[in-house]
Amino acid sequence: MAAVPYGGKKKSWCWASYLEQDKAIAAPTKLFKEHQAFPQSKNGFRVGMRLEGVDPEHPSMYCVLTVAEVSGHRIRLHFDKNLDCYDFWVNSNSADIHPVGWCEKTGHKLHPPKGMKDEEFGWSSYIKQSKAQAAPKALFENQNTVRELEAIDKKNPSFICVATVTDMVDSRFLVHFDNWDESYDFWCDATSPYIHPVGWCQDNDRILTTPPGYPSVKDFSWGKYLEETNSSPAPARAFKGKPPHTFLPLMKLETVDKRNPMLVRVATVVDTEDHRIKIHFDGWTDEYDYWVDTDSPDIHPAGWCAKTGHPLQPPIMGSTHSSGQGGCPTPGCKGVGHIKGARYSGHHSAVGCPYSDININKDSVLPDRLSGEMPGSGGLGRPRRAEPNPENHPALVATATDPLLFKIKFIHSRFCMFIFFSFHTVELTLQEALHQSVFMPCTSPSPSSTPFCWDQHSKLLPTVAGITSSKVAVWTVEEVIEFIQGLPGCNEHVHTFRDEQIDGEAFLLLTQVDLVRIMSIKLGPAIKIYNSILMFKTAEESACNEL
Ligand SMILES: [Zn+2]
Repeated sequence: MAAVPYGGKKKSWCWASYLEQDKAIAAPTKLFKEHQAFPQSKNGFRVGMRLEGVDPEHPSMYCVLTVAEVSGHRIRLHFDKNLDCYDFWVNSNSADIHPVGWCEKTGHKLHPPKGMKDEEFGWSSYIKQSKAQAAPKALFENQNTVRELEAIDKKNPSFICVATVTDMVDSRFLVHFDNWDESYDFWCDATSPYIHPVGWCQDNDRILTTPPGYPSVKDFSWGKYLEETNSSPAPARAFKGKPPHTFLPLMKLETVDKRNPMLVRVATVVDTEDHRIKIHFDGWTDEYDYWVDTDSPDIHPAGWCAKTGHPLQPPIMGSTHSSGQGGCPTPGCKGVGHIKGARYSGHHSAVGCPYSDININKDSVLPDRLSGEMPGSGGLGRPRRAEPNPENHPALVATATDPLLFKIKFIHSRFCMFIFFSFHTVELTLQEALHQSVFMPCTSPSPSSTPFCWDQHSKLLPTVAGITSSKVAVWTVEEVIEFIQGLPGCNEHVHTFRDEQIDGEAFLLLTQVDLVRIMSIKLGPAIKIYNSILMFKTAEESACNEL
């Protein structure tokens, strides 16, 4: 069966002739796990069916969900009574979804639809009132005291942190980083390469990141910590080494495009690591490449889409490369999907395009779904790393309902944190300062220092005002240098930008890690430069919103 790409011309494309023509090989089906390979049963979910499932952004939370769309083996799920921009796609055999009533049966807390109190919600009355149907139990394929461990922060893989197992379902468990907020939790099984037993770091001469707020970082010892927290180490059976995968470079496969998860594309393995493969989308430039875990539910063998009835996006060929399809200017993009989430089916400009230069490295442009309503936030004293916590931040409360303002203020508050750390915490090492400034934007300083920071902000970076990232994107290397020279205290780093040939486009893609670790720029100037980049991007969004 020939696949027809979204928005593309109806012309037949097939794996067999494509592989033959390119003398390429498809990754053998046996390299894929059972949940990645061809499903045994048909996707029986229908639009409107209700179920319970894990929120991918808050993996410790089970929520009331509705099937909003079905495509082949994949389903789009909607949080009941919530904005549909938070909809997300999963495979119908996902281990993260469960039938109605599962939480109650297994002793898990189910979060009721937005706006409903726990005591107001009951499945039978809810189903009756909404005239909905519970997804039949038969559609769900996946239906011990483990405690402390050392786990790798998937979002920042250089950190191995003190962690706890906080939930368990069948053979999978939920890993929570001690004293971090829940958005960093992840589900895994005993073969996960991201977990190690207590003491692993010491045995392997690696640095263990202790929980934030732990009083004596230097004197951390597991023995003392287990005693203080009244917990025990996870037993050896929680850790089973996994044999290395056998994917090889140049093997072909089908991969869900993380920038546009409604699309599954023809892809090639271009590099491999112990537990990961680097994915390249055929016909696209390698700036779109990224690493995925070999046990990711997003990779599938060649032919998976055809077998499961989901459209497959064939490689971009020379003839289909012309822009204009769907009105999006980004080469290769057919105007399908939107940076703002699964609910939007299309876009017409670089601003909404998940593949445009301004969006290519963005994980999400949305404020957290639970902004301002996270249960117990503040009370538990858990820092929220990537997200601002309006309850702890008076400056944010008034604007939390306006996503754009929210973002500006968030960037502002992060900027303040940088200034705070660079000016006031000389005793912190660079590593610690960076880690705190990036991951703990809300824990300190006290809210009273915020107005002070805002002043600092405008005084320190007067040259940034009003410049949008689309203007910066066309700067030459010399224009970037001219701008860096204009930032107070940054003059001595000009040569680095010249040596590295950083033009406007490259400048906008720089991260803090690039600036400090790779370009060896001192923390103070790096903070000012990075925040200029953030401000350019914010100016771009404001400009677009005014249009
Ligand atoms: Zn586009």
